Amino acid sequence: MNEIKVIETRKKVLEENEKIAEANKELLENKRIKAIEFLGGPGSGKTHLIYELARELRDKFNIAYIGGDMAGKYDAEYIGKVGIPSLQINTGNMCHLEAFHLRDALKKLDVGEDLDLLMVENVGNLICPFELEIGTHKRVVLVDPAEGKEKFEKYPIAFLNSDVIVISKADLIKALDADLNEMLEKAHNANPKAKVVTTSAKEKEGIKELIEVIL
Ligand code: MG
Ligand code: ZN
Repeated sequence: MNEIKVIETRKKVLEENEKIAEANKELLENKRIKAIEFLGGPGSGKTHLIYELARELRDKFNIAYIGGDMAGKYDAEYIGKVGIPSLQINTGNMCHLEAFHLRDALKKLDVGEDLDLLMVENVGNLICPFELEIGTHKRVVLVDPAEGKEKFEKYPIAFLNSDVIVISKADLIKALDADLNEMLEKAHNANPKAKVVTTSAKEKEGIKELIEVIL
Protein backbone atom coordinates (compact mmCIF):
# COMPACT_ATOMS: atom_id res chain seq x y z
CA MET A 1 0.00 0.00 0.00
CA ASN A 2 1.19 3.50 -0.73
CA GLU A 3 2.31 5.55 2.18
CA ILE A 4 0.00 8.48 2.73
CA LYS A 5 1.82 11.78 3.15
CA VAL A 6 0.41 14.23 5.67
CA ILE A 7 1.38 17.88 5.67
CA GLU A 8 1.02 19.31 9.14
CA THR A 9 0.25 22.88 8.16
CA ARG A 10 -1.32 23.84 11.46
CA LYS A 11 1.83 22.95 13.41
CA LYS A 12 3.96 24.93 10.99
CA VAL A 13 1.67 27.94 11.22
CA LEU A 14 1.79 27.86 15.02
CA GLU A 15 5.59 27.55 15.07
CA GLU A 16 5.95 30.43 12.64
CA ASN A 17 3.54 32.50 14.72
CA GLU A 18 5.54 31.82 17.88
CA LYS A 19 8.75 33.05 16.26
CA ILE A 20 7.12 36.29 15.15
CA ALA A 21 5.48 36.74 18.57
CA GLU A 22 8.89 36.45 20.25
CA ALA A 23 10.36 39.00 17.85
CA ASN A 24 7.45 41.37 18.57
CA LYS A 25 8.05 41.05 22.29
CA GLU A 26 11.75 41.71 21.86
CA LEU A 27 11.07 44.80 19.76
CA LEU A 28 8.62 46.13 22.35
CA GLU A 29 11.03 45.44 25.19
CA ASN A 30 13.92 47.12 23.39
CA LYS A 31 11.77 50.19 22.94
CA ARG A 32 10.49 49.91 26.53
CA ILE A 33 6.89 49.70 25.40
CA LYS A 34 4.43 47.79 27.54
CA ALA A 35 1.77 46.03 25.47
CA ILE A 36 -1.56 45.12 27.02
CA GLU A 37 -3.97 42.95 25.05
CA PHE A 38 -7.75 43.07 25.50
CA LEU A 39 -9.86 40.07 24.57
CA GLY A 40 -13.42 38.85 24.93
CA GLY A 41 -16.56 38.01 23.01
CA PRO A 42 -18.09 40.50 20.56
CA GLY A 43 -19.83 43.28 22.47
CA SER A 44 -18.23 42.50 25.83
CA GLY A 45 -17.13 46.13 26.11
CA LYS A 46 -13.45 46.01 25.09
CA THR A 47 -13.35 49.20 23.05
CA HIS A 48 -15.27 51.32 25.52
CA LEU A 49 -13.09 50.10 28.40
CA ILE A 50 -9.89 50.86 26.45
CA TYR A 51 -11.32 54.31 25.71
CA GLU A 52 -11.76 55.04 29.43
CA LEU A 53 -8.33 53.60 30.30
CA ALA A 54 -6.67 55.71 27.61
CA ARG A 55 -8.52 58.82 28.78
CA GLU A 56 -7.30 58.24 32.32
CA LEU A 57 -3.70 57.53 31.27
CA ARG A 58 -3.09 59.83 28.31
CA ASP A 59 -1.50 62.61 30.39
CA LYS A 60 0.96 60.29 32.10
CA PHE A 61 1.90 57.99 29.23
CA ASN A 62 2.41 58.08 25.50
CA ILE A 63 -0.22 55.58 24.40
CA ALA A 64 -1.12 54.03 21.06
CA TYR A 65 -3.95 51.70 20.08
CA ILE A 66 -4.09 48.81 17.64
CA GLY A 67 -7.48 47.19 17.08
CA GLY A 68 -8.31 44.00 15.24
CA ASP A 69 -11.65 43.46 13.53
CA MET A 70 -12.70 41.45 10.52
CA ALA A 71 -13.85 44.63 8.76
CA GLY A 72 -14.40 48.35 9.25
CA LYS A 73 -12.54 50.99 11.23
CA TYR A 74 -15.09 51.77 13.91
CA ASP A 75 -12.93 50.95 16.94
CA ALA A 76 -9.81 52.84 15.82
CA GLU A 77 -11.97 55.88 15.04
CA TYR A 78 -13.62 55.62 18.45
CA ILE A 79 -10.31 55.32 20.35
CA GLY A 80 -8.78 58.02 18.14
CA LYS A 81 -11.19 60.50 19.77
CA VAL A 82 -9.09 60.22 22.96
CA GLY A 83 -6.29 61.84 20.95
CA ILE A 84 -3.90 58.91 20.71
CA PRO A 85 -2.47 57.27 17.55
CA SER A 86 -4.92 54.52 16.55
CA LEU A 87 -4.66 51.89 13.90
CA GLN A 88 -7.20 49.35 12.68
CA ILE A 89 -6.22 45.93 11.40
CA ASN A 90 -8.79 44.25 9.18
CA THR A 91 -8.34 40.50 9.35
CA GLY A 92 -10.75 39.66 6.51
CA ASN A 93 -11.95 36.13 7.15
CA MET A 94 -9.67 35.55 10.13
CA CYS A 95 -11.39 35.44 13.52
CA HIS A 96 -8.31 36.37 15.59
CA LEU A 97 -5.07 38.32 15.40
CA GLU A 98 -1.85 36.52 14.63
CA ALA A 99 1.64 37.72 15.48
CA PHE A 100 2.26 38.96 11.94
CA HIS A 101 -0.70 41.34 12.28
CA LEU A 102 0.95 42.97 15.29
CA ARG A 103 4.35 43.01 13.56
CA ASP A 104 2.90 44.77 10.50
CA ALA A 105 0.85 47.16 12.64
CA LEU A 106 3.93 48.15 14.65
CA LYS A 107 5.69 49.01 11.40
CA LYS A 108 2.72 51.02 10.14
CA LEU A 109 2.32 52.79 13.45
CA ASP A 110 5.99 53.79 13.24
CA VAL A 111 6.30 53.68 17.02
CA GLY A 112 8.55 56.50 18.12
CA GLU A 113 11.08 56.29 20.92
CA ASP A 114 8.70 58.01 23.29
CA LEU A 115 5.81 55.54 23.09
CA ASP A 116 5.47 53.65 26.35
CA LEU A 117 2.09 51.96 26.37
CA LEU A 118 0.38 50.00 23.63
CA MET A 119 -3.21 48.83 23.91
CA VAL A 120 -4.09 46.00 21.56
CA GLU A 121 -7.67 44.88 21.04
CA ASN A 122 -8.04 41.41 19.57
CA VAL A 123 -10.98 40.34 17.40
CA GLY A 124 -14.13 39.68 19.47
CA ASN A 125 -13.89 35.95 20.07
CA LEU A 126 -13.51 33.77 23.16
CA ILE A 127 -11.83 30.84 21.43
CA CYS A 128 -8.86 31.00 19.06
CA PRO A 129 -7.26 34.33 20.11
CA PHE A 130 -6.27 32.51 23.29
CA GLU A 131 -4.66 29.67 21.41
CA LEU A 132 -1.76 31.74 20.12
CA GLU A 133 0.29 34.59 21.51
CA ILE A 134 1.02 37.65 19.43
CA GLY A 135 3.80 39.12 21.60
CA THR A 136 1.95 41.27 24.14
CA HIS A 137 2.94 41.35 27.82
CA LYS A 138 -0.41 40.98 29.50
CA ARG A 139 -3.82 39.66 28.56
CA VAL A 140 -7.06 41.07 29.89
CA VAL A 141 -10.24 39.08 29.16
CA LEU A 142 -13.68 40.66 29.51
CA VAL A 143 -17.00 39.02 30.33
CA ASP A 144 -20.13 41.11 30.74
CA PRO A 145 -23.13 40.11 32.89
CA ALA A 146 -25.41 39.60 29.87
CA GLU A 147 -23.13 36.87 28.51
CA GLY A 148 -23.97 34.62 31.43
CA LYS A 149 -21.92 33.04 34.15
CA GLU A 150 -21.58 29.81 32.14
CA LYS A 151 -18.86 31.44 30.03
CA PHE A 152 -16.28 30.72 32.72
CA GLU A 153 -16.80 26.99 32.42
CA LYS A 154 -17.50 26.83 28.71
CA TYR A 155 -14.31 28.59 27.55
CA PRO A 156 -11.58 27.38 29.93
CA ILE A 157 -8.52 28.43 27.90
CA ALA A 158 -9.78 32.00 27.61
CA PHE A 159 -9.38 32.39 31.36
CA LEU A 160 -6.40 30.11 31.90
CA ASN A 161 -4.43 32.02 29.25
CA SER A 162 -5.26 35.47 30.65
CA ASP A 163 -3.61 37.48 33.42
CA VAL A 164 -6.60 39.61 34.32
CA ILE A 165 -10.33 38.80 34.20
CA VAL A 166 -12.67 41.78 33.95
CA ILE A 167 -16.37 41.60 34.74
CA SER A 168 -17.36 44.48 32.47
CA LYS A 169 -20.56 46.54 32.21
CA ALA A 170 -21.20 46.26 35.96
CA ASP A 171 -23.94 48.86 35.50
CA LEU A 172 -26.03 46.09 33.88
CA ILE A 173 -25.95 43.80 36.91
CA LYS A 174 -29.05 45.26 38.53
CA ALA A 175 -31.15 45.36 35.35
CA LEU A 176 -30.26 41.77 34.53
CA ASP A 177 -30.68 40.60 38.11
CA ALA A 178 -27.25 38.97 37.75
CA ASP A 179 -25.33 37.65 40.74
CA LEU A 180 -21.99 39.49 40.85
CA ASN A 181 -20.59 37.38 43.68
CA GLU A 182 -21.28 34.23 41.75
CA MET A 183 -19.58 35.67 38.66
CA LEU A 184 -16.56 36.67 40.75
CA GLU A 185 -16.35 33.22 42.25
CA LYS A 186 -16.59 31.50 38.87
CA ALA A 187 -13.99 33.86 37.44
CA HIS A 188 -11.63 33.03 40.29
CA ASN A 189 -12.21 29.30 39.86
CA ALA A 190 -11.57 29.56 36.10
CA ASN A 191 -8.05 30.84 36.87
CA PRO A 192 -7.07 31.22 40.53
CA LYS A 193 -3.85 33.00 39.47
CA ALA A 194 -5.62 35.76 37.53
CA LYS A 195 -6.64 39.06 39.09
CA VAL A 196 -10.37 39.72 38.86
CA VAL A 197 -11.64 43.29 38.49
CA THR A 198 -15.19 44.61 38.09
CA THR A 199 -15.61 47.65 35.85
CA SER A 200 -18.23 49.88 34.33
CA ALA A 201 -16.89 52.04 31.53
CA LYS A 202 -20.27 53.79 31.41
CA GLU A 203 -20.15 54.79 35.08
CA LYS A 204 -16.33 55.09 35.00
CA GLU A 205 -16.06 52.59 37.82
CA GLY A 206 -13.18 50.20 38.43
CA ILE A 207 -10.98 52.02 35.91
CA LYS A 208 -8.32 53.08 38.43
CA GLU A 209 -8.35 49.65 40.04
CA LEU A 210 -7.80 48.01 36.65
CA ILE A 211 -4.94 50.40 35.88
CA GLU A 212 -3.24 49.37 39.10
CA VAL A 213 -3.56 45.73 38.12
CA ILE A 214 -2.34 46.05 34.54
CA LEU A 215 0.54 48.50 35.02
MG1 MG B 1 -14.23 46.55 19.78
ZN1 ZN C 1 -9.62 32.52 14.89
